[in-house]
Amino acid sequence: MKKYNIVIIGGGPAGLAAAVAARKAGEESILILERDHELGGILNQCIHNGFGLHTFKEELTGPEYAARFIDQVKELKIEYKLNTMVMDISADRVVTAMNREEGLFQIASGAVVLCMGCRERPRGALNIPGYRPAGIFSAGTAQRLVNMEGYMPGREVVILGSGDIGLIMARRMTLEGAKVKVVAELLPYSGGLKRNIVQCLDDYGIPLKLSHTVVNIEGKERVSAVTIAEVGADRRPIAGTEERYTCDTLLLSCGLIPENELSRSAGVEMNPVTSGPVVNESLETSVPGIFACGNVLHVHDLVDYVSEEAERAGIHAMRFARGELSGERETGGQEILLKAEQGARYTVPSHLNLQRMEEKLVVRFRVGAVFMNSFVSVYFNDERVQHRKKQILAPGEMEQVVLKKSDLEAFPGLQRITVRIEAE
Ligand SMILES: Cc1cc2nc3c(=O)[nH]c(=O)nc-3n(C[C@H](O)[C@H](O)[C@H](O)COP(=O)(O)OP(=O)(O)OC[C@H]3O[C@@H](n4cnc5c(N)ncnc54)[C@H](O)[C@@H]3O)c2cc1C
Repeated sequence: MKKYNIVIIGGGPAGLAAAVAARKAGEESILILERDHELGGILNQCIHNGFGLHTFKEELTGPEYAARFIDQVKELKIEYKLNTMVMDISADRVVTAMNREEGLFQIASGAVVLCMGCRERPRGALNIPGYRPAGIFSAGTAQRLVNMEGYMPGREVVILGSGDIGLIMARRMTLEGAKVKVVAELLPYSGGLKRNIVQCLDDYGIPLKLSHTVVNIEGKERVSAVTIAEVGADRRPIAGTEERYTCDTLLLSCGLIPENELSRSAGVEMNPVTSGPVVNESLETSVPGIFACGNVLHVHDLVDYVSEEAERAGIHAMRFARGELSGERETGGQEILLKAEQGARYTVPSHLNLQRMEEKLVVRFRVGAVFMNSFVSVYFNDERVQHRKKQILAPGEMEQVVLKKSDLEAFPGLQRITVRIEAE
C-alpha cells in the first residue's frame, strides 16, 4: 500500500489551502484526492465577484480566487489525483478511493484532512406538497447549469430560501434575462449576507418575503405556478395569506449540509448543531490524526475564513504525522470545554487543550437569531472576561472571538469557556 504523510480529501479551497500551508512548512509527502475533473471545488461555478477581500485585499471571482491556490499547488509540485472518489476512511487512516485508471485502491496516511465541503439540502427534505414536475432545481444546480454548462433553467422564477446561493442566483437569473418574481424565506430573517441582499435583490427590485413558504406547486410536466403563504411563529402557513405566482421554475436555496458520510464511517464524533465533526484547538476530530476544515466542518460565509482555517489544519496535520502533536497529547495538559449559550449556536472548536493551544486561538460561531445593539460576551467559568458591542448580529454572518493563551493560563482552575449574546 502506498503511504503519504498527509492525505487531503477534497480539492476545493479548503483542501488546496491545507496542502499549500503544509508544503510551505516543509512537508514533502502530501496527496490531494478530488472527485471532480478539476481542482477548485464549488468556487469554479461562482463566477460573481466578492471573493478574497480579506486574503488578497482584492475582489476576485470564485475561479480567480481558486486559481491563486491551484497555481501554488502546481508550483510547489503537490501531488493530486482528479476524478478520484474517496469511498472510505478507516479509524487508522487508511483511505480507500476509486478512479478509472487505478480502480479501487488504498493509501495509508500519517494524517488525514477532511475537506469535502457541503451539499445543498434537497427538496425531499423540505416537505413541499404538490406534483414532481420539471423546473425545480436547487440553486447550486441552477448556478452550475448557467455558469458552467451554458443552460438557462427557466424564464420566470420563484426562489425559496434566502441563503447566499439563492440571493446570488436571483441576480444571476435576472442578468441572464429571466424574471425573478419573488424570494420567499421561511424564517423572519435572511440566511444570507447583508451585502448579498442589497447587491442581489434590492439593486434589481426583487421582493424578499420573510416568514413565507411555498404551499403549492402547480404543473404536471413543468412547473406552471407556485403559491406561497405567510407563516406564523410556529412556522405553519397562515390561511388566507396565499399569493400565487405564475412561473416555470422554482429554485430551492434552503441550507447546506456538510458532506460527512466519510467522517461518520471513520467513527468521527459529530456536532448535531453544525452537522460537522467536533474538533479541538488543532482542528483535530475525535479520531486522532483526522483533521477537518472548511465547509465540511461548519458552513462558512466567506471563503477567506475557509482558507485561513484550512492552513491551520494543514500545519497541525503535518505536526501530527511527525509525531509532534501526539507527543504533546501524551503529556496531558488542561482540557477546557467551549460552550455556546444564549443566542450563540455553536463554537468551533468545541474544546481545547491549553498545552497544545497556540498563542492566539480564533473561535468561530454563529448566532441563532438577529440581535441589534447587543454584546458578544466570553466567560471563563462564571466570570465575564470579554464584552464587545455589536450593532447587529445575524445568523447569515459568521462571528468570532479571539482567545489568548496567556489569559487562559492566568485564570486559575479554568474548565469552561462560554460565548453568550447579551443585551447589556
Ligand atoms: C453559490 C455560492 C456562492 C458563494 N459566494 C461566496 C462569495 O461571494 N464570497 C465568499 O467568500 N464565499 C462564497 N461562497 C462560499 C465558498 O464558496 C465556500 O466557503 C468554499 O467553497 C468552501 O470550500 P471547501 O473547500 O470547504 O468546499 P468545496 O468548495 O465544496 O470543496 C469541496 C471539494 O471536495 C470534493 N469532495 C467531496 N467529497 C469527496 C470525496 N468523497 N472524494 C473526493 N473529493 C470529494 C468536492 O468535489 C469539492 O471539490 C459561496 C458558496 C456558494 C455555494
